Amino acid sequence: MRLETTYRPGVIPLPTEKASVEHILDIRSWCDKLLSFRTTRSRSFRFQPGQFVRLGMKSDKGGVIWRPYSMVSADYDEYLEFFSILVPDGAFSDRLSRAAVGDEMYVEKSPYGYLTTSRFVGGEDLWLLASGTGIAPFLSILRDLAVWGQYENIVLAYSVREARELAYQEEIVGLGSDELFADAKARLQYVPIVTRESVPGMLDRRLTELIRDGSLEQRVNLPLDQARARLLLCGNPQMLDDLRGILQERGLRPDRSREPGNFASENYW
Ligand SMILES: Cc1cc2nc3c(=O)[nH]c(=O)nc-3n(C[C@H](O)[C@H](O)[C@H](O)COP(=O)(O)OP(=O)(O)OC[C@H]3O[C@@H](n4cnc5c(N)ncnc54)[C@H](O)[C@@H]3O)c2cc1C
Repeated sequence: MRLETTYRPGVIPLPTEKASVEHILDIRSWCDKLLSFRTTRSRSFRFQPGQFVRLGMKSDKGGVIWRPYSMVSADYDEYLEFFSILVPDGAFSDRLSRAAVGDEMYVEKSPYGYLTTSRFVGGEDLWLLASGTGIAPFLSILRDLAVWGQYENIVLAYSVREARELAYQEEIVGLGSDELFADAKARLQYVPIVTRESVPGMLDRRLTELIRDGSLEQRVNLPLDQARARLLLCGNPQMLDDLRGILQERGLRPDRSREPGNFASENYW
């Protein structure tokens, strides 16, 4: 997944052969380690909500640093939006933390990934379970009108350590009153989870525990039932590993191309 390339004429193709050159339009800082940025979007770039694309930024050493990023923006937005962690000593993080409006951003021409609702067969309730920046693909999925027509209930559980890491709160809460979804059949229930602070009205235990002991189901008054539930999981690999085990203990199955099931996941590292 990780690529760091130094471009030598005639040896490694220039980034523009596989990527379009876009420009940063806007940068929004959430806290010292989280930011969102928008870029211009090539008219030919198409993706399904939930997919990711490889982004490239020129490094100070002369190469290009590539990292995969999920699209936050809707498939119909004229721009692309991404939500990013700034990891201490991370090569991409370091470059991104110094980025400015107008800077170049390479965006590969083809998106990737199967963390999409189109993969599922049937189901009444869509559960979107995110840790940290794993919320990114779900923000795009939640702006897809087809998803609001496909399910009766949508549950978004977004787990972070500290309340200041909860990004996109106004946007998420505003979805319920967005006129775009006014006639949609689905009802959205949003469950923010903060594990290292006690915040009134928010759950404060790990997502794994909340699923294991049924607290999340009680909170939204829906069962994690094999016939009804379809789940997408995204973020921290250890948490996702634990979650997959707990879901399987509950009789839910991974969704595979030849064997339709209940859940699919995407690890961020
Ligand atoms: C399919 C896919 C989609 C991704 N989408 C996103 C996205 O939308 N937003 C995003 O911020 N990152 C996303 N990532 C991770 C991203 O590609 C980079 O790893 C991240 O931006 C850090 O890059 P870096 O070069 O600074 O550090 P890296 O050298 O890539 O990572 C260093 C370490 O930082 C930690 N780390 C990496 N990514 C994260 C993260 N997202 N949250 C917490 N800790 C992390 C891990 O411990 C990792 O070993 C995605 C990864 C994959 C595989």
